[in-house]
Amino acid sequence: MKKSRFYLRYLFGAVVMITLVGVPTVQAREHTQSNDNASAIYWKTEKDHIGMLAAYAVVYKGWQKDNARGYNIGSVLLSNDSLNSRLVFWGRNCNTVTHNETQHGEVRLMLGYLAKLNADRQHKLKVPDIKNLDGYTVYTTLEPCAQCSGMMTLQKVHNTIYGQGDPGFGKALERLQLNSSSLPNGYLPYPRPVISERANIIYCNQLEKGFSEYQKKYGPDAHITDFLKSEEARQIFESAYSELKAYKAKVPSINDRFLIETKKMVESVPKEFVPLHPDI
Ligand SMILES: [Zn+2]
Repeated sequence: MKKSRFYLRYLFGAVVMITLVGVPTVQAREHTQSNDNASAIYWKTEKDHIGMLAAYAVVYKGWQKDNARGYNIGSVLLSNDSLNSRLVFWGRNCNTVTHNETQHGEVRLMLGYLAKLNADRQHKLKVPDIKNLDGYTVYTTLEPCAQCSGMMTLQKVHNTIYGQGDPGFGKALERLQLNSSSLPNGYLPYPRPVISERANIIYCNQLEKGFSEYQKKYGPDAHITDFLKSEEARQIFESAYSELKAYKAKVPSINDRFLIETKKMVESVPKEFVPLHPDI
C-alpha cells in the first residue's frame, strides 16, 4: 500500500515536472522553429502584399468618378525571377476611351508588356527572350473575368491574386478547372491551370463588404463597376495607396529593393490615359 502510494506520488510529481518544465521547453522549441519557418516564407507573402498595394495604387492614381477612361480596375505584373522578381508593367481598364470593351486592365497589362519588350528588342535593348508570360504573376484589383482568365491561361501565367471578389463574373479560372468528364458529354479540366487567389489584405474585405451593402441598397443587379466609382470605394483605394507610400519592408534583405522599385513605378503612373504601343 505504502509502495503504491509512493509510485502514485512519484507519477504525480513527474506529471507536474513535465507540465511545468518539459512542455514549455517543447513549446519554446516549436515556437522558435515556426518563427524561422514564418520568416523563411514571409518574404513571398510580403511581396504579394506589396504587389497588391501597387495594383490598388495604380487605380487610385487614375481615379475617375465618371469612368471617362474606363472602369476603376487595374493590375500590375510580377516577373518570374523568383527571389529577384519585380513589377515590370501596369495596366488599367480603358473600355470607354478606346470604345472597345476588350480593354480590361489585365488584357492591356499582358499585351502592353509583351509589346514593350518587342519594341525594346527592335531598338537592340537587352530584354527577356519571351513570347508569353510563363511563370508570371498578375495582381489585379478585381477578380479576373472569363476573357482575362482565358488570356492568362494561354499565356501560361502562373497565378493571379485579386483584391476584390466579383460575384457576377468571377471564378472563371476555377470553372476552367472543373472536371465534368464523368458526366455524359463532360470535359476534362482545361490545360495550363492558373492559380487564382483572393488577396489576404484588409482592403479586399472592405471592398467586398462595401459592394455587398451597395447591392442591398440598389438591388442584386447593381453593377460592381458603378460601386467602384463611389466615394466609399475611392477612400479604400486611397488607404491602400497611403499604406504603400509609408510601407517599410519586414524582410528588408529580400524585399527592400523590390519595395523601392515598386514605389518608383507607382509614382511614375500618370492620371491620364496611356496608349499601348502602336505596333499592336
Ligand atoms: Zn477582364
